[in-house]
Amino acid sequence: MKIHEYQAKEIFSKYGIPVERHTLCRTAACVVAAFRTIGTDKVVIKAQVLTGGRGKAGGVKVVDNMEDAYQEAKNILGMSIKGLPVNQVLVSEAIDIAAEYYVGFTIDRNTRSVVLMMSASGGMDIEEVARRTPEKIIRYSIDPFIGLPDYLARHFAFSLFPQMEQAGRMAVILQELYKVFIENDASLVEVNPLALTAKGTLIAIDAKIVFDDNALYRHPGIQALSDLTEEEKVEANAKDKGFSYVHMDGNIGCMVNGAGLAMATMDMIKLHGGNPANFLDIGGSSNPLKVVEAMKLLLQDEKVKVVLINIFGGITRCDDVAMGLIQAFDMIKSDIPVIVRLTGTNENIGRELLRNHSRFQIATTMKEAALMALKS
Ligand code: GDP
Ligand code: MN
Repeated sequence: MKIHEYQAKEIFSKYGIPVERHTLCRTAACVVAAFRTIGTDKVVIKAQVLTGGRGKAGGVKVVDNMEDAYQEAKNILGMSIKGLPVNQVLVSEAIDIAAEYYVGFTIDRNTRSVVLMMSASGGMDIEEVARRTPEKIIRYSIDPFIGLPDYLARHFAFSLFPQMEQAGRMAVILQELYKVFIENDASLVEVNPLALTAKGTLIAIDAKIVFDDNALYRHPGIQALSDLTEEEKVEANAKDKGFSYVHMDGNIGCMVNGAGLAMATMDMIKLHGGNPANFLDIGGSSNPLKVVEAMKLLLQDEKVKVVLINIFGGITRCDDVAMGLIQAFDMIKSDIPVIVRLTGTNENIGRELLRNHSRFQIATTMKEAALMALKS
């Protein structure tokens, strides 16, 4: 789960990591008022959306007068960045930046540990730096049993800041960022840029934290920060019902038992020139209520014009599945064509049951099912 910059900065503050004074605003009038309250000559207005690259998209502006503050705020609040509408902006005191550094903790699967990454070439072009001059990014694996004691934090800090005073400050920031990472079960904690100010202090200008979804149950406070897009809400809702659902752009709704079979179904549709509307694994069992819920989920998407149900009856027998489907579709009010491909234990009995029910078109192979879906 991602959180917004302003939320990440609140967490940083709790850990004593320096961030600028700031206010969150939803209107241009609020931005102007915030400018007055902050009281500096310049402020930065930053779009709060759950994606990077805001600066390059025009979502970060430094302003030094009220008129510009109002205009830029209006501008940014009206834009979308990578498809995400900007509803909130952060207004911060503008920092006099002498240099921009990159610092981040993430998980390195190769070394099976947390890795610290740092660079003196931080800022908006860090991806380019990583691609073209990877040697400019320093990496240290953190031993989980040792963590980041003072001597190591200082050692790492010195590789970026040769000067004692700054290295000392950096060492503390590294330790606190690592604490943020571990204590909150994060998968990424990133500061880009970490700014060196004209006065020689260090300050987190940007803040990014991604949390491990599987550990969110341990952090109700963090879970409450979640700000889902409409599409993510549908997916989260599906997860609560025990489904694994991913929305896609096509028009063939898929309802499948098993993740592997669900992917194979999508492949088969694609292979024959169609486009799946979703990935949906409803899991095992012949419970008709599950099918009813799954149909509701598929029909929420107005693009769906046909539904392909692909079920392998192994432990759950096909005759049971067929009965479940018949009961379910007695409860579902929709005329959308439904193609069923049912195979496995007792498949002949199952298919016979479905054939007696006008609601279903029956396919025996996956290819046949995909072609039928394409024709409807
Ligand atoms: P991102 O593009 O989404 O990563 O947004 P950032 O918060 O990192 O901002 C992008 C860039 O805006 C930074 O790399 C800085 O160069 C610049 N910037 C942000 N805040 C300030 C500030 O307070 N003062 C100055 N001078 N530049 C800033
Ligand atoms: Mn940034």
